[in-house]
Amino acid sequence: MKFGGTSVATLPRWQNIQELVASRRAEGARVLVVVSALSGITDALKHLCAQGDQGKRMEAAKAITQRHYELLEHMQLALPDTLAARLGDLARLAEEGPAAMGELAWAAKVQAHGELLSSALGASFLTHSGLPTQWLDARECLAAVALPNQNERSKLLSAMVEAKPDPALSARLGALGEVFITQGFIAREAQGRTVLLGRGGSDTSASYFGALLKALRVEIWTDVAGMFTANPRQVAGARLLQRLDYEEAQEIASTGAKVLHPRCLSPLREPRVPLLIKDTNRPELDGTVIGPEVREHAPSVKAISARKGITLVSMESVGMWQQVGFLADVFTQFKQHGLSVDLISSAETNVTVSLDPTENLLDSDAIAALASDLAKVCRVKVIAPCAAVTLVGRGMRSMLHTLSGVLAEFGQLRVHLISQSSNNLNLTFVVDENVVDELLPHLHDLLIAAGALRTDDSALFGPSWQALYGSGEALVPEAAWWRTERRQQLLALGAQATPRYVYHLPTVRHQARELKTLAAVDRLHYAVKANTHPDILRALAEEGFGFECVSPGELKAVMAAVPESAPLLFTPNFAPREDYAWALNTRATVSLDSLYPMAHWGELFRGREIVLRIDLGRGLGHHEKVRTGGSGSKFGLPVESIDAFLKLADAHGVIVRGLHAHLGSGILDEAHWGEVYSQLASLAERIGSVAFIDIGGGLGVPSHPGEARLDIAALDRVLREVKAAYPHYKLWMEPGRYLVADAGVLLARVTQQKGKGALRYLGIDTGMNSLIRPALYEAWHEIVNLTRLDEPVTGLFQIVGPICESGDVLGTDRRLPEPQEGDVMLIAQAGAYGKVMSSEYNMRDAAEEIIID
Ligand SMILES: *Cc1c(COP(=O)(O)O)cnc(C)c1O
Repeated sequence: MKFGGTSVATLPRWQNIQELVASRRAEGARVLVVVSALSGITDALKHLCAQGDQGKRMEAAKAITQRHYELLEHMQLALPDTLAARLGDLARLAEEGPAAMGELAWAAKVQAHGELLSSALGASFLTHSGLPTQWLDARECLAAVALPNQNERSKLLSAMVEAKPDPALSARLGALGEVFITQGFIAREAQGRTVLLGRGGSDTSASYFGALLKALRVEIWTDVAGMFTANPRQVAGARLLQRLDYEEAQEIASTGAKVLHPRCLSPLREPRVPLLIKDTNRPELDGTVIGPEVREHAPSVKAISARKGITLVSMESVGMWQQVGFLADVFTQFKQHGLSVDLISSAETNVTVSLDPTENLLDSDAIAALASDLAKVCRVKVIAPCAAVTLVGRGMRSMLHTLSGVLAEFGQLRVHLISQSSNNLNLTFVVDENVVDELLPHLHDLLIAAGALRTDDSALFGPSWQALYGSGEALVPEAAWWRTERRQQLLALGAQATPRYVYHLPTVRHQARELKTLAAVDRLHYAVKANTHPDILRALAEEGFGFECVSPGELKAVMAAVPESAPLLFTPNFAPREDYAWALNTRATVSLDSLYPMAHWGELFRGREIVLRIDLGRGLGHHEKVRTGGSGSKFGLPVESIDAFLKLADAHGVIVRGLHAHLGSGILDEAHWGEVYSQLASLAERIGSVAFIDIGGGLGVPSHPGEARLDIAALDRVLREVKAAYPHYKLWMEPGRYLVADAGVLLARVTQQKGKGALRYLGIDTGMNSLIRPALYEAWHEIVNLTRLDEPVTGLFQIVGPICESGDVLGTDRRLPEPQEGDVMLIAQAGAYGKVMSSEYNMRDAAEEIIID
């Protein structure tokens, strides 16, 4: 367990460490704690090293001593011998100065005292708090290796250690005790001198120890819960990454994420020791687990990162084509100037490379010197400042088809270089530096919308940074009815028979009443295709809803269930002539959405008032298949055909009384309906005969953890604003999903289990025949084991049905408790587009429907 500088600086933080270590002891693990220096002490030691004057050095040492005394006093501890000895050493080093040892070796030894002191203090505190703790000198365990091209400075101040599992060390520690504390950041070299590990040193120490001891795991305790899909300071919606493999994590760390130094991961790879990142202040959060398990079956972009301060060097040579040794000549120059190249792209006569500031000491002199030497072999252009925007994810090449929206975004920018890493883990775009701050949040949204960053995969993607650390209101999901007071009733229903749909009428009424608070809306209709259960139709009629139907069958079902006073809409699409003829003899208001019926069956509509459904030229919604606007969709009359339609209508004495648009389903942005409303209203002004505007349905309910609910009050404000400009039109809406989705669940029973490779399949007694949305729309439904709702999660499951189709998967990678045959499983949010879309495929029994009130 590694704790950084702020985590060891105060008494409460040490009490926190003590609790965490004790909890690991309670699990039966032996613990090695790796600590940094108290915050500010490493800087104070560097300051000490910079003093030429002996008196000043001793003064600095005294201030450092004082800091540790103060913390001891807070801890109400007497000065332990180990700490007294270290403080004595530090005072001596300050007094002697570098002369005897040599500047660099002396500086390394002085700076090592930050960790030596904090660990001595910590050993005493933990022991006095009831956890007998052994102090361990890291220099006895970590041996630096000599590397080629290493000068004295890098050898002493930026050393590398080779850490192979060392059973002798494990055995030695095992004989000594259960809890140890040691120092991050320091090691010894071949001659026995103290060396430092350089940037990210303490985390790297923890990894070295993890590898040496072949630990159960390495835990890095820091001030954030782990790695995120983007820098949370730039993208508040960035999601916690709960699981990564070493390579992906390394790629994210090296392309910008600061939580972890990329160097920490390589020591753990061979011994396959997992690394866990945890938030010291919020230990209950899951954190990020980085391990050897590679998940190939569900490729997803994992993160988007940006590095600023990138310099591009473009080298052009007319003679390069087939010229042997050109690249060798060019790269020799980079080597001679001590510059490390990051990205490369090449053409017949051009090579462009990038220089990353984190690996290079870049100053304009170094670049100018390089450019002038390169100019001897080619034409050189330096482009700066640039930023490298990187998408990281295993199997990047197989995800290209999902990136079209993202690529289109780059299409509007100056892209200087595109590079795809040869390990198939990243795709990088180099653009001008000044565009990235705005670009990043936008790209993050696009990646999620396109399904390239598969945030619906709850095994990988945790809550957003905002949900974890932001104000967080409105993001806490209300306890669903099925989770609380109705759970026992559902278990009993599931024990009788499955599969079963169960609908909770109070939830339908609750949703209906919420929509009735929309003061701007004059008439609400229920889009019955979402769920045609007669009890639901009746409940909504009682709430004063009208009904929107898309077929004669739906109209008949509604007319059989609800009183005659309820208004009806008939809004079919590509329906045959006889459907219209039939509907015109009912009380339903009929809508048309193409020229054909008016052009070919105009007499049918003579003298009638109709609604005209318009395609406003774009679609919206949670999946391509639910977008019902735009040229890719079959719905609605295009705006440019309105005049032709009106001419035909005139010829048959048909009056356009209403204008209608419905752009898609599952929309969570209130502004959408305001736009539709004002566009339809301005078209209505041109037509003259219009009395009402129907802005459709499509009101979404959050389906993924962390998604915000539609704000109905905000929607009303949006609508009232448009209404103020067009008070002469009545406003209609026709939501389906919003009213019934949360009211319904599908109950099924566990049938079998199967392990296959790394995957565990959990079978239930119904599948896509009862609920096709996951297969059709990649819809995400929460799935729980209702029988074992309170039991701990033990595995990751693919929930599948009994249908002979590989698409018969209701949920992928769900974290669930250990299941048993016969357990009742619940698939949530199945009230809308569930039963109504079911089929008899495979001749499996249909799910029955039960109403509870
Ligand atoms: C399906 C449909 C609706 C309802 O859509 P939801 O997303 O369920 O609200 C409304 N109007 C028309 C014309 C529809 O086809």
